[in-house]
Amino acid sequence: MEGPSLYLAAEQLRPFIRRRVLDVSGNSKIGIERLRRKTVRDIFAWGKHLVLQFDRFALRVHFMLWGTFAATVNGAPVTGDYRRSGAPRLVLMFCNGEITIWSASVKFIEDANTRATYDFTLDTLSSSWDPTRAVRAVRRHPDAEIADVLLDQSIFAGVGNIIKNEVLFRTRTDPRTYIRDIPARKLRAIVADARTFSERFLELRRQFALRRNLEIYGRSVCPRCSGRVTRLTHGTRNRRSFFCRACQT
Ligand SMILES: [Zn+2]
Repeated sequence: MEGPSLYLAAEQLRPFIRRRVLDVSGNSKIGIERLRRKTVRDIFAWGKHLVLQFDRFALRVHFMLWGTFAATVNGAPVTGDYRRSGAPRLVLMFCNGEITIWSASVKFIEDANTRATYDFTLDTLSSSWDPTRAVRAVRRHPDAEIADVLLDQSIFAGVGNIIKNEVLFRTRTDPRTYIRDIPARKLRAIVADARTFSERFLELRRQFALRRNLEIYGRSVCPRCSGRVTRLTHGTRNRRSFFCRACQT
């Protein structure tokens, strides 16, 4: 799950704020029993984190590569078509529904106001997002490939592999381009689009219309020139890129 999916999750899970955890289960080994009978005070997203704040501590769910979740509020499922597999990491039951989390990393943060410990200027969807700072941070990696740098959560918190591929297609950038070879104007455009496309991703997710609106991720034909889309695992992160060799130079 990428950042926009977690922003949406934080919205969808709002009915659990001020509700008490009635029951807890799951295969997590962090001592989840302490959640029983505790009341949720706040729920927010930052990058690929979803945070449930309780009175004296918070539960931080880090979705990393394969984490996913589902929830039911008043009998109705509120979440999308995320893949899920195996036994749940954590299930929280409330009087008005439940939250189930798979394959994510869960951790307790001993802080009564965890929101204040996060730097929202790094979060591409936050109103505090700072693109100038992001451009400066990218420039500090001249020998890295742009596809790797876009996935760096300390610069673009929330950007995952789908957003990376779409942004590079929309800005007509070869994912293997070294930062040192990207002109200043182009780099500013890429950074700006990380925000713009993340907002679009959020809107499409809201409408359950994300997959069919992706232009390059998972595609085999380029929508611009009808050429064949290249699929390549590359870079120090070894993540897959989808790109058109003719359009993205
Ligand atoms: Zn093309």
